[in-house]
Amino acid sequence: MALTGIEIYKHLPKTNCKACGFPTCLAFAMKLAQKGAELSACPDVSEEAKQALDAASRPPIRLVSIGGNGKKIEVGNEVVMFRHEKTFYHAPGFVVRIKDSDPAEAISKRVKEVTNYKVERVGMELNLDGFAIDNVSANEAAFLKAVEVVSSQSTLPLVLMSQDPAVMEAALKKTASAKPLIYAAKEDNAQVMAELARKYQCPLAVYGPGGLDQLAGVVEEVTNTGVEDVVLDPGARGFAESVTTLTQLRRLALKKNFRLLGYPIITFPGEGVTSVEEEALMAGQQVAKYGGIIVLDHLEPAMVYPLLTLRMGLYTDPQKPIQVSSAVYPIGEPKATSPLLVTTNFSLTYFSVAGEIESGGFPSWLLVVDTEGLSVLTAWAAGKFDAEKIAKAVNAQNAVEHIEHRSLVIPGNVAVLRGELEEELSGWKIVVGPRDAVDIGSFLRQNWKVN
Ligand code: SF4
Repeated sequence: MALTGIEIYKHLPKTNCKACGFPTCLAFAMKLAQKGAELSACPDVSEEAKQALDAASRPPIRLVSIGGNGKKIEVGNEVVMFRHEKTFYHAPGFVVRIKDSDPAEAISKRVKEVTNYKVERVGMELNLDGFAIDNVSANEAAFLKAVEVVSSQSTLPLVLMSQDPAVMEAALKKTASAKPLIYAAKEDNAQVMAELARKYQCPLAVYGPGGLDQLAGVVEEVTNTGVEDVVLDPGARGFAESVTTLTQLRRLALKKNFRLLGYPIITFPGEGVTSVEEEALMAGQQVAKYGGIIVLDHLEPAMVYPLLTLRMGLYTDPQKPIQVSSAVYPIGEPKATSPLLVTTNFSLTYFSVAGEIESGGFPSWLLVVDTEGLSVLTAWAAGKFDAEKIAKAVNAQNAVEHIEHRSLVIPGNVAVLRGELEEELSGWKIVVGPRDAVDIGSFLRQNWKVN
């Protein structure tokens, strides 16, 4: 059972020294009880207290790391059921399944596609995260060949999938330094798979399709041998079964503090569906609830881009909007006679405006004002995008070094700022632009002339 804040408080030094970042020991204890702080933040906590508080200080869902030579996938350590309660911290990793029955050329081609895949969204590069190499051939040589083809071309994290412990060990001998996820320990091989996980210091997936009791039983068996990094596969494959089972697992870990099921989850959205579209829908469902490692069977651009975008949206802290830096940005190849427009530093606003300037074919300078990530109207209403702040940004970013005119185009939504801005920026002409970014191109073509 989780300890209450008061129970935790009894074990703390009670000096209120603030070294933990909280004003009092009681405030720290309350935060610890909510899993919002780490016990290690208190430098004076005694060894006795550490032991007593161990359960309270451990995250309810263990953080598990896969990969060792390059990029890592880190999943787990989530503390809420719903993103709006706080935030989600560790985005699920998308790994693409490679079948060892495929020809080496096809595997090599797929590895290149996955490794090179990148798309940009609001200034962030989105990528895929790794490979799940599946021993569908049940043949050791074919599995080792596939592992070699993948490992020789990519340092992305691996999931090794084989039912045969001997085949798994042969692959681990070649890849242990890359810390692959071993898939999977089951009721009938838990001991030997756990032994491999300990010997090669790799995380271990546990497969228990016979219900959560069975899954917890196998987890108990492998963790009793000393394995700490576990990933769960409850075997739920259909839409309803997946959302129900994965939600149950999250609730048991967070609300009941049930340690045996307090681990991230691996999912296989391509199993139990009948089309690529359904696989994409299932993967999307599992991004939201509550996949940790999501094994994709297909790599259609129309499927991957929305999934990466969905993941980015859900795993962005809602209290910290994505922002761009305050600066003067050249859009296209502007000259000293080109327009200077101003907007806020909320990423979506910036990229909408920049995109419309670019597609409008009228190269311009874009001054971004730091509004703490708020969009134009919200920032104006909050007093973060007023005449004084815009004028300060014009001067702080030395906008005049880019232009030979003294005209500034402001968003049509804040036309009310025009008079004040002309007072703040003596000698400047303030031009009221369109209300919607989509009209910027035509507005500039019709109205821009150097004054
Ligand atoms: S660092 Fe420890 S002793 Fe100091 S206020 Fe925090 S909990 Fe109390």
